[in-house]
Amino acid sequence: MPATLLVDAGRISAVRAWDEVPSEALLHDFGDYVLLPGLVDTHVHINEPGRTEWEGFTTATQAAAAGGVTTLVDMPLNCKPETTTPSALERKRAAARGKAMVDWATWGGLVRGNIEALAPLAAEGVAGFKCFLVHSGIDTFAWVDEANLRTALTSLRGSGLPLLAHAEVCGPITSAIEALNKRGADWRKYSTYVASRPDQAEVEAIGLLIRLADEFRTPIHIVHLSSAQALPLLADARARGVPVTVETCPHYLWFAAEDIPDGATEFKCAPPMRGAANREALWGALADGIIDIVASDHSPCPPAMKRRDEGRWDLAWGGISSLGLALPVIWTALGRRGLGSVAGLQLLGRWMSAAPARLAGLQGRKGAFNSGADADIVVFDPDTEWTVSKRHLHFRHKLSPYIGAQLRGQVQETWLRGAPVYTRCAPVVKEECFVGDPRGAELVRL
Ligand SMILES: [Zn+2]
Repeated sequence: MPATLLVDAGRISAVRAWDEVPSEALLHDFGDYVLLPGLVDTHVHINEPGRTEWEGFTTATQAAAAGGVTTLVDMPLNCKPETTTPSALERKRAAARGKAMVDWATWGGLVRGNIEALAPLAAEGVAGFKCFLVHSGIDTFAWVDEANLRTALTSLRGSGLPLLAHAEVCGPITSAIEALNKRGADWRKYSTYVASRPDQAEVEAIGLLIRLADEFRTPIHIVHLSSAQALPLLADARARGVPVTVETCPHYLWFAAEDIPDGATEFKCAPPMRGAANREALWGALADGIIDIVASDHSPCPPAMKRRDEGRWDLAWGGISSLGLALPVIWTALGRRGLGSVAGLQLLGRWMSAAPARLAGLQGRKGAFNSGADADIVVFDPDTEWTVSKRHLHFRHKLSPYIGAQLRGQVQETWLRGAPVYTRCAPVVKEECFVGDPRGAELVRL
């Protein structure tokens, strides 16, 4: 839809008809490109401080800017120390200083033993809390059980802050792994890995989380939903008004188990990517509003930790690197489903800007072209077709299952609070480039 977006002092002041340009305004004409509200990615592992060799603020926020993401919300692991105490949060803030190309906020961590840190972290402005119901991969980020959850929800009740949960329980996983090992399963096979993280682990965890959200009337957010078998439970909970929200990730919407090569551990994440029918059911749930958010879960590690030479899914580190690719990936996928149109663009805005902004308490400021909101703008060419190669990846380690993917749509420019931070067409030697010094700010939820 042709329009004019009026920006004043870094904020949107109005959206008007295309030919209603005030005579005193400085005009930027983007032709036929699409303007989208800056994306809000509520699931990113920046890993700095402590594991900056995995990923840091500089590279993560550059990747974000290049992908049209103007707000990141950082997960409380795999940095060191984990963001589970006010002093760790202070170190996170110090580490970010002067490095962020885009705005950012942070989730605090809920682990066994840090219940007394929740209120001080909330007072310091974290956006909410993240916990695991199964081993997190990081020994110092201990998973929580139902008793821990009850204590935490008692503390959070009435605060408005959401509790985010990695929704897998360990019982079905432990049994599955025992059975696989007993029959000598081949851990190079992707089918072995999928069998080791059964749907039931997600279904049981989500059942528990729904019961608790209902009982405590406190918002719980399911991160990275993979199993479509949990959708009936979630649909029922939402119909009953239980305060539960759901996210899935581009990789669950793009890849399917049938296509993942054995030994290709760059595809390892937990829960795993399941079959094509499961993927299509996730698309259906997005369309029906049972899933609210598409977030990247960008979770990199040094390439050696993927142990690609051995190709064993049980030994490789889990986590998909994708920051900056979500917009063209989801747009391409929408196009294949007959939604490569204005309706599809509106869905992108809902799933990747407005709903995640709401989860992080940033509604009104981020995620939509409302007057008074920050003028965070993606200039998007919806038609260019391209193939992902390492040179398109701006995060630290150029290892990603998306290399070779054929996508449609490309970010031309990204604007943060009324000025560009990224442009593909800058008159400098590098084809793609970042504009100006890092001026991303921390967004504190108070
Ligand atoms: Zn994650």
